[in-house]
Order: sequence, then structure tokens, then C-alpha cells
Amino acid sequence: MTTRPQNKKQSAVASTRSRDSVAHEANQIAWADLSWKPIAGDAKVTTGSRVTPVSKQFDDIYFSGRGIDETQHVFIDGNNIRQRFAQGNSFVIGETGFGTGLNFLAALETWQAASKPVQAHLDYVACEQSPLRPEDIRRTFQHLPNLKANVEALIDLQPPLTPGFHRLPFLDNVTLTLIYGDVRSALAEIEAKVDAWFLDGFSPSRNPDMWCPEVFQQMARLSNRNTTVATFTVAGLVRRGLTDNGFDVKKTPGFGRKREMLVGQFLPQKTALPDESSHFPRERKPWFARSTALKTAPDKEPLRLAIIGGGIAGASLAHAVRRRGGIPTIIDRDGLAAGASGNKGGLIMPRLDIGADAVAYFFRQAYIHCLRTIDNLTLETSHDFFNRCGVKLLASDKDEVKKFEKLLSEKTLPTDWMTQQGNDLFFPQAGVVDPKKYVHALASHTRVTNECVSSVIPGRDNIKPEVMFTSGNTEQFDAVIIANGAGDIFTVLQGIPFTNVDGQLDYFAKASPPEPAIAAGPYAAPAPGGGLLVGATYMKAEQGVAPTVSLEASKTNIEKLREIDLQIAKDLNAEDSAPRAATRRQTPDRLPTVGAIPNWDAYERDYDGLRHGQRKQYTIGRPLRGLYVMSGLGSRGLVTAPLCADILISEIMGAPSPVAQNVRHGLHPARFFIRQLKRQER
Ligand code: SAM
Repeated sequence: MTTRPQNKKQSAVASTRSRDSVAHEANQIAWADLSWKPIAGDAKVTTGSRVTPVSKQFDDIYFSGRGIDETQHVFIDGNNIRQRFAQGNSFVIGETGFGTGLNFLAALETWQAASKPVQAHLDYVACEQSPLRPEDIRRTFQHLPNLKANVEALIDLQPPLTPGFHRLPFLDNVTLTLIYGDVRSALAEIEAKVDAWFLDGFSPSRNPDMWCPEVFQQMARLSNRNTTVATFTVAGLVRRGLTDNGFDVKKTPGFGRKREMLVGQFLPQKTALPDESSHFPRERKPWFARSTALKTAPDKEPLRLAIIGGGIAGASLAHAVRRRGGIPTIIDRDGLAAGASGNKGGLIMPRLDIGADAVAYFFRQAYIHCLRTIDNLTLETSHDFFNRCGVKLLASDKDEVKKFEKLLSEKTLPTDWMTQQGNDLFFPQAGVVDPKKYVHALASHTRVTNECVSSVIPGRDNIKPEVMFTSGNTEQFDAVIIANGAGDIFTVLQGIPFTNVDGQLDYFAKASPPEPAIAAGPYAAPAPGGGLLVGATYMKAEQGVAPTVSLEASKTNIEKLREIDLQIAKDLNAEDSAPRAATRRQTPDRLPTVGAIPNWDAYERDYDGLRHGQRKQYTIGRPLRGLYVMSGLGSRGLVTAPLCADILISEIMGAPSPVAQNVRHGLHPARFFIRQLKRQER
């Protein structure tokens, strides 16, 4: 499986990256402003062409000398990375200032040279408030031709200039999580167990934010007993900051002319932290804590995960499981893409919210992540299932015009991802996907069993979670995920107020579609393979009642289209449509539900105090062992499923979360239950 875009033309995310350097209050990310100076101490330097970047803001160099040797010495050797990679485990590196990516590239080179089992995965999580422009990254590494392939791959993956988390699948077994923003707020939102810290900023005297107490406190939260740290500086405030937060540090010989550097190990008993388990000791909302990851080891069999449901949710989960070296099995009595994911076509476009809250971050990131997933999948499978025709979002009234203006002025997406066209917004990367092909591409190399599940049983003692089939058979897995859209409701989901909605999509084989697609609630789009799609009705549905198509619904769809595009609507006859109706599952807050299924009885006992507004240290949320859910994706599943799947599989397999903690909290299966308790207090 190759997940690296190799051809720029095929990569919308890569080729349309932002050139926008204007920071805005809600979206304050701007390119690094650089000057260049000749590499010092390099005997081969005879001209100014061998140069090293200097930050104008901090008046300091990104690294000294030729860079890579110092990085190897300070960060790779300082954390004993080579020997630890050779042990064959998955590994997480945390870095405070990503900069040029040099430290990442050095770690990558070391990882590529190590021999390891297929399920080993390198996660690199880094913060950066001023990313380097692609041309600056190229210039930085022009004197290191052996890094060229990885440098170009890194440039191809550079995300748009939007704040927050960006999940970048680098190679089959390497994932880069880049967080654009200030290191203090970025670290506070990370959920991960970091094995080694690359503590890299400009010198403490010029860049104090990078070395402040909040940074060391967050590092402690994200560390465990084996976590190490290395940094080039031995400044007293850094030594004290690390020591005060549980790191045992010592000075060792520095690189080149630098006499000393610092290495250390996290020894949690030295801190005030209440425990050292994988649960985060200072959990802000313990009822939404990440569940304990399943245990894996290099000499163990890969994890086997059951995914109930073969739609976009299930297929995205299967894809995410395989990327992390696990073995997925999709269980769906009707096979792949039989429900709402079997429609003739589906829009891939963003939902954009004003402001910078978790919901706004989730939907924006989901859109960017979905486009990247589609790009990578197209390369992997050589299947073309996405028409990047662009989507025009039409303003339907004055309020919407105002909202669009706000989105533009807030730079919710950079200008090459969202432009103004009159009163409307245009998304050039958006388009129409063939959902069936999309689902099949995501689920390729996945075992699919056409069986009907009657119930799921949580794991207990030494027994793994089980799936029971209506045939009477049972099968055990390491984990079971319910991702069956509007299918059967299992009793373990009792605390989640799911509802169902039916929607009819009309397909006119002979009609000409608009290019780009248009949307304003109703939409008209080019159908995959030709013709016009018009959608979609929205009706509350009863659980277990199959959706039906109707001429009435086709007429409604045409009527609604008439309000936004008279020209297209006037030539359509309801009788000419080949309609399809499908049911979707949704939640009251219109956000997906993603995470470990709570043990509802334990939740009731453990959090009863919330009903009385009791303030105390609540225990970590107890889930039903080995059971998870990803459902309630509503009408945006084609866009949000890849990110939701990455969130859940990362939690199950112990990888860093691809999203901010507050985003994951907003999707947690216990959120309605907890809200209900708190409401009772009021
Ligand atoms: N590790 C980098 C490399 O391999 O090129 C070099 C890092 S450079 C010395 C420090 C980096 O930290 C810069 O890219 C800078 O923009 C970033 N930085 C400085 N202050 C920051 C802050 N408060 N939050 C996030 N990033 C910051």
C-alpha cells in the first residue's frame, strides 16, 4: 500500500497548497519569514549557494552546520533511537518545533534503515506556528541530495495553511501529525504516549515561549516511564523545567563546537502526577478519556478487528486498520456499499462554521483529510472514482451572504481552497465521488463476510469480545466496532439517542449537469459516468422500516432545484428519474459518534455526582471491553468517515490521536449521557 502522492497532478491537496501568508485572528498561521546565511564550518562552502535558513522573527538559525550530523547526534543518538527502533515496536516521537522538517527527515531515514515487523508504525507528532514555504524547504536541503526523495514527499504532503491538526500519512508505516499553532495550545490538545521528545526551538533567550513551564508540564502528561528527551541546549531554565516535571536529565557532550547538550528520561515518581498509567492523569473530562489501547508486540500476531457494517464508515475503518498493520473483517449481511453508501454519487464538499470551536475544526479537518485520503487511494488502487469538478455553494438569503463574507474574512480556508464568486463560495477541490467505488477502494484487501449479526458481547477476564451471528455461530476478535449506519440497533448502544432519516436522490441519465456542481441545501451535480444527480429529500424515518422511492419525492427535488437553478430544473421530468432512497443515522447535535462504548451501568454509578454538581476527582470512564462505535455520520459520512476512522483506530491501537482532544470529546459516545446528567443538576 503506497500512501504517498507521487504525482503532483494527481494530488489536489499537494498541488493547491496555500500561498496565502496573511494571518487572521481566528486562523493565525503565516509562512515563516526567512533570510539565508552561508553554512558555517563547512569546508566545502565556497559560494553563498550552500545556505542555512534564519528566522527573521527570532533572529536565529534553524540548525547549525550542515544540520543532519547535528540532528543525528543530538536528537537521534541523544534518544537512543537506532537501538529502540531495532526492537520492532511502534514508536512515537514528539517534537516541539517542526521547522524545516530536518529532525523528522533524520528520524525517517533511521526508521527506513531499521528492520521491523509489518505492524510497527512510526508516528511523528510536531508543532509549528510558522511553516516553511515549499521553495524554502527545497532551498534548505539543496546541499543534501540524498534526502531529496523524502524532502519532495514532505513538500507534497504539506497541508493547507489552516490552524490545528493535520494528519499526514507519509509512507506505509509512517504518519506525521503536524499541528499548526502555538506550541502551548498545541501540546495541550495532543493525546498520545510519546516515546522520545525532540525538544527543539530557537535559543531559549530568543524564543522563551518554546521553553516555558506549560510546555514541560504537557510533556510530562504525554510521557511514560520509558520516555526520553534530548535537546541541544543546557540552559538552566530548560534543565529546571524538565526536572520539575519528572525528567531526570544530565549533560552529555554536544555536537561540534557545542560543549554540552541535555538528555533525560521521564521518571514519574519524581512528579506530583497521581499515576503513570496510559490513562492521562490530568484528564480534563475523565468520562471522555481515551480507552486503554489494545496490547501489541513485535512477536505477537497482528490485531484482528471486526467491523460491523460495509458502508463508508466500515470501509474507512478497514482502511485505517490495515494502515496500522491490523487485520480487519467487515461483517455485513448485504455486502459492501448496500445502504446509503450505494448511491449513484455523493458530494465531497466542506461544512464550514464561523469561529474556531471544536465543531468548526472537526468539519474543516475532515474535509481536508477526506481529499487527501481520496488522492492516496486513487494512487494506491489506480481507480478513478472522484470527479474534482468543484462545488459552488450558493447563498440562499442575506444571512447566508453575511456568513460567507465572515468565512472569507476569517480565512476559514485559504484563498486557493475557497474563493468568492459574487455572493457565493466556490471550492475548487470539491467534487463528486462514486460512493460504491470509493467504498470498494477503501475496503480492498479486506475480508468481507455476508453474515447477519445478532449481538455483540464485550470481552471479560481472558475472553475476547465476541460477535454472535443469527446462524448461531460466534467469532472472537480483539475488538468489535459497530459501524452499521442505519442498520440494526444493538442494545449496547442504548445510551446514544440515534435517529434515522430517509433521503431520496434523483438521477437523470440524459440530462446535462452543471459544471461545477451547485449546492444550497438542494444540489445538482454531474453523476459519475454521465447524467445529472439532484438531491436530496430529508424525512424522519422509523427504525427498521426500509426506505421507498416515490414520484412525489422526485417532484420535490425538482421543485427545490428550481429555487436555485431554474434553467436546469425546467427541463426535468420526475418520470425520467431513476431515484434511489436510503436511510442514514444521525445524532441530535449532528456530529458523528466515535469511540469506545461506555459501560452504561458504570457510567451511571461513577458520574452520579454530576447530577448534583459535585466537584471531585472523577474516575476514568469505563467502557465495555473491546466494543467500539462509529455511527451517526448523517448526510456527511462520505466526507467525515476517513477522519472518524483514523480517530477510532488510533485510539484502539494506541497511536496518537489525529485530532485535538476537544474535537474527540465532541464525538464521544457518552456525550449525550453526560449532558443529560448535567442538565438534571440544573
Ligand atoms: N526542528 C526544526 C528543524 O528540524 O528544522 C528546527 C526548529 S527551529 C530551531 C524552531 C521552530 O520552532 C521554528 O520553526 C519556529 O517557527 C517554531 N516555533 C517557535 N516558537 C514557537 C511557538 N511558540 N509555537 C510553535 N512553534 C514555534
